[in-house]
Amino acid sequence: MNTIIHEAQVRSQLASVRYPGFSRDIVSFGLVKEIRIEGSTVQIQMALTTADVAVPQKIKADSEAAVQAIPGVENVIVRIDIHAPAKAVTAPAATAAGIPGVKHVIAIASGKGGVGKSTVASNLAMALEQAGRSVGLCDCDLYGPSVGLMFGTSERPYADTETGQIQPIEKYGLRLMSMGFLLEDGAPAVLRGPMVTKYTQQFLRQVDWGDLDFLILDLPPGTGDIQLTIVQTVALAGAVIVTTPQEVALIDARKAVSMFQKVNVPVLGIVENMSYFQCPSDGKRYDIFGSGGGQREADRLGVRLLGQIPIDIATREAGDRGLPVTAADRGGAVAGQFEEIAKALMRGLEMEHSLV
Ligand code: ADP
Repeated sequence: MNTIIHEAQVRSQLASVRYPGFSRDIVSFGLVKEIRIEGSTVQIQMALTTADVAVPQKIKADSEAAVQAIPGVENVIVRIDIHAPAKAVTAPAATAAGIPGVKHVIAIASGKGGVGKSTVASNLAMALEQAGRSVGLCDCDLYGPSVGLMFGTSERPYADTETGQIQPIEKYGLRLMSMGFLLEDGAPAVLRGPMVTKYTQQFLRQVDWGDLDFLILDLPPGTGDIQLTIVQTVALAGAVIVTTPQEVALIDARKAVSMFQKVNVPVLGIVENMSYFQCPSDGKRYDIFGSGGGQREADRLGVRLLGQIPIDIATREAGDRGLPVTAADRGGAVAGQFEEIAKALMRGLEMEHSLV
């Protein structure tokens, strides 16, 4: 007697297939359009948008293997309609405007201070540059600018008095702008809310960023009015939330996710920083702040976990020395993790803006 195959079984098997590079599965991403069962033959129709031919190949192979494992299935036919990604990313908020010449503006945010947001922003910018993209990094943390320290520069930017245009500082192939470059001896800025908006606007609109693939905005920590104003006035392609794994940080990370969702900015994912400590002498891993917090939170919020960065002495030292670890130890373990995060971010961007 032939075994009857049910659509629910097929769907459940397909839900075990992950989209390459992501923790989310192809069913929840909405790739599976139709399932047809005729006797022992299962036909699956999928659709996806990508410019990377390896992605549908991998999905096809993994789906075939998963469905083939169902008792009674003899043939699996997977068809994938592939659509080319849309060229331009459109403004998510009605009032937000793009920056001429800049393809993608990405905000790096955190609910709390001190979780490593600037470290992640700097290293992610470097990793994107190392992947051959043109990248700018704008330090929007006017009260506590740290990009100057992370890149070892206190150079003053040149401002053209006639046009009012400001030249960003060039370092390690990146274009940088920070309040720290404008302050005497890095003295903290005493600014009221409207001034913060004004300076931020100036950083975004008056700096001669030139042609960029990515402009990374290192936002101030928290989810107050200042952050909201910033995210509403510039057309963001997406946001990345940095958190540490413990509950107190995750609570605030949740607020940051919700702030972006309110203004229709896609959350490209969470980066869990200071995830664990790998002892250099015995290689043993210690989950100092508990394990799995970032992944659980990402699953709960329906966003991706882009990667995990360990607590690492070299990362801290490199940051304080003015050379991000991705440049100081290119090819090293932490640099490799940032490289993976950069790749996941680019894939996420492609999917958020053009997934059918
Ligand atoms: P935030 O921007 O969230 O305030 P920072 O990026 O300035 O945080 O990081 C705060 C401090 O923690 C800095 O001294 C930085 O070098 C250190 N730090 C950040 N991430 C790591 C890490 N993964 N391992 C070790 N030190 C880190």
